[in-house]
Amino acid sequence: MSKDSATHVIDPSDEFLNSRFQIKNSIQRFNPKFDIFNRSLWDDQINPRNFFASYDIANYAPKKSKGFDHWDYALRNASWHLTDLVGEQHFAESGAVEGFTHPFTTQVPGPDVPIVLKSPQETSKRIKAAAKLFGAGMTGITKVDQRWVYSHSFNRKTQDNLSFDLPEGMDTVIVLILPMDYRLGTTFPSALSGSTTGVGYADSLQCATMMAQFITNLGFEAMASLNDTALNIPLAIKAGLGEYGRHGLLISRDYGPNVRIAKVFTNLPMAIDQPQEFGVRAFCEQCRKCADACPPRAIAQDDPQEKPPNISSLPNIKKWTVNAEKCFKFWVGMNTDCAICIRVCPYNKDYSKWWSRLGIKLAGGPLRRFMLWLDNMLGYGKRMAPEAWWKL
Ligand code: SF4
Ligand code: SF4
Repeated sequence: MSKDSATHVIDPSDEFLNSRFQIKNSIQRFNPKFDIFNRSLWDDQINPRNFFASYDIANYAPKKSKGFDHWDYALRNASWHLTDLVGEQHFAESGAVEGFTHPFTTQVPGPDVPIVLKSPQETSKRIKAAAKLFGAGMTGITKVDQRWVYSHSFNRKTQDNLSFDLPEGMDTVIVLILPMDYRLGTTFPSALSGSTTGVGYADSLQCATMMAQFITNLGFEAMASLNDTALNIPLAIKAGLGEYGRHGLLISRDYGPNVRIAKVFTNLPMAIDQPQEFGVRAFCEQCRKCADACPPRAIAQDDPQEKPPNISSLPNIKKWTVNAEKCFKFWVGMNTDCAICIRVCPYNKDYSKWWSRLGIKLAGGPLRRFMLWLDNMLGYGKRMAPEAWWKL
């Protein structure tokens, strides 16, 4: 952590996270070698079986259950097509999976002379306007806290695990929230519903790479990233985009948990945002819908803990942590991703409806117990039959 303490200036958003999650000074940066997907390549305990192979349509295995037939896999795999194409463009020579193990290398060079900026506030405003145009539902800007930057980069081809630091000067991060399709998300889990995940990644890819190119065109440095390079959730919380839920996901202020997160690291000087709370923590303390609904019981029923269930999560930070081993084993059994925990979460709503937004607002205050009861009474979170989505 020597580089970290030397270069990072503590700002109030770091203090917020320190106290909210009782982060110990002994916390270490996460090594992505221990990420559950990367572990499945080298750790005999984690067997991916046909999970990754099924994303090649030649290997899909139809099931009798609805939502797992040829149509469903064809749609899911097509939704991943762009992300795979761009992300794996250099895999054969470098082993990089851009967006997952390494940042994107899609940018073309910018001008030699950077634009003259009026003020950090004005720059932030313009960056957020551009992010909206590029597809972001929400945008937050914060200083990089090096504790959330990965300590290494993991190469999925060679399994090299080399130490990693952000390039000098990239001290600011633009965090982008990409909402996913609400109706399709109500069919989780199925191969069909995996299409909303695929589209979410493609939206993230578009937004982050366009933003990085925009900043490059202004004459500054930028690096587009999805799940690679740093942990998204603490950066999103720091950037004021949402709170942390029992299911280990970001609950974004304007779209709930049904989102993907992308980010762009940059040296462009901008005004930064601060964390915002709207009652999620207190609500999660009452509600256990995600933990009750999770088939492999991977979500904690008890209070936040400092010690994670296994090596795929960071210790020395007090939080609810999903048991990634149990969760991934369930995905492997289905040959597709599961997001039952997103589907049943009372914060997962159609935010275009005023009554949804009002309900979420009330859930953040003293009416939280009543709102939880109402959520159950109204039948939110129930699975829509996959074939019903095809008929919509
Ligand atoms: S994705 Fe599915 S298996 Fe994993 S934690 Fe959520 S509900 Fe459980
Ligand atoms: S389902 Fe309930 S406990 Fe789980 S994250 Fe959502 S609000 Fe929190």
